[in-house]
Amino acid sequence: MVKTNTQGHLTIGGCDAIDLAHNFGTPLIVYDVTKIRYQFEQFQAAFDETKINYEISYASKALAIKAIDQVINQEQGHLDVVSSGELMTAVAAGFPMAKVSFHGNNKTRAELNLALDQHVGTIIVDNFYELTLLEQLLAGTASQINVMLRLAPGITAHTHEYIQTGQVDSKFGFDIASGQAEQALKQVLASQHLHLIGYHAHIGSQIMAVNGFSALVKKLVKLSANWQEKYGYQPAVLNLGGGFGIQYTANDQPLLPKNFIHQIVTDLKAEIAKTNLNLPAIWLEPGRAIVGTAGYSLYTIGARKEIPNLRTYISVDGGMGDNIRPSLYQAKYQALLASNPLASPTQTVTVAGRYCESGDILVKNQPLPDTSPGDILAVLATGAYGYSMASNYNRVGRPAVVFAENGQAKLVVKRETASDLIRLDLDYLN
Ligand code: PLP
Repeated sequence: MVKTNTQGHLTIGGCDAIDLAHNFGTPLIVYDVTKIRYQFEQFQAAFDETKINYEISYASKALAIKAIDQVINQEQGHLDVVSSGELMTAVAAGFPMAKVSFHGNNKTRAELNLALDQHVGTIIVDNFYELTLLEQLLAGTASQINVMLRLAPGITAHTHEYIQTGQVDSKFGFDIASGQAEQALKQVLASQHLHLIGYHAHIGSQIMAVNGFSALVKKLVKLSANWQEKYGYQPAVLNLGGGFGIQYTANDQPLLPKNFIHQIVTDLKAEIAKTNLNLPAIWLEPGRAIVGTAGYSLYTIGARKEIPNLRTYISVDGGMGDNIRPSLYQAKYQALLASNPLASPTQTVTVAGRYCESGDILVKNQPLPDTSPGDILAVLATGAYGYSMASNYNRVGRPAVVFAENGQAKLVVKRETASDLIRLDLDYLN
């Protein structure tokens, strides 16, 4: 839903997008903080209705900067990190470490050491190598750390479909079918240092139907009951990962958080009723669904190239360096003219980035009103995996990031300058 002010300009968090572009420069990534909070609170409200224990753990890989960590903390959320960089961002943001989970399929010894030093709440253990490292790091101490076992559930979901297979070809998690997961369970239960709080599984991204989660709940509860019988252990937490789909373009029809959560909880209760297990807490890890539609990329339009009877390109001052998703995954976005987002289209253009790659196209076949060089183009729903995947390709600095809320705009990440870009370079000859 596009909001405008009396001048007819796009507004973001109550701020005029044209003013934002002029005040902070372009390319600029602007977040509507009200939308971030709203999305987060949708997840919480849906769980609150069900009365089961839960945590919403924001997957910070979608956007890992201090400002978002601070908003998530204010919203009483948990945080997922996948690297020492994301972890130290959380530390710098003042995020309570007890509410942080550390993910990753190849955490280094140094990263695990850092996580232990910082008293991270939960380590989501991915493989045997990590189990060994943790045991080594904790050997000879009286310390205990909460862990979850990441399981490869043999269920993969994407949009409306999900696939269930006995085994899954994934680099993440302990394989269930081959017995590796059970072996990991035995190892953790025998450890003096690892306190197992439950199981984790993540089934995919941009999921538009709840059926994959239903299948996952059934599988995890069945497995938990089986392992309870064999080993007398029952999980306090089932973490079902993230992947909740969002609307990038009109073709995407995502479910509301409550649609997912009500079905998950209904399935959970029904499956648990068939067992001797107590109702576990459910943790979810939405990333995209929290920050995706709250983010807008503002660009200045420059060159125009018309190829008669074929295509018109308009080029902008950003592109794959600040949003790799269209080139990487053919992701679709929608763009509009920030000075008049509601104007009727008069042309169909392809929005090209400024980078030296033919594939650097942000939006194909976008209907737009007349545009001129200097106009501000807004690409919608760029808040997830845009800035967090940004690069310095072509030695272009990464854009600035602004958080806007109730008509107030605050710079939360500075624009990278040429001196930032060469800061780490050393001379070879001098
Ligand atoms: N949790 C895990 C383990 C993930 O791998 C991911 C994404 O890759 C997420 C959560 C977040 O996914 P999304 O941003 O699609 O919600």
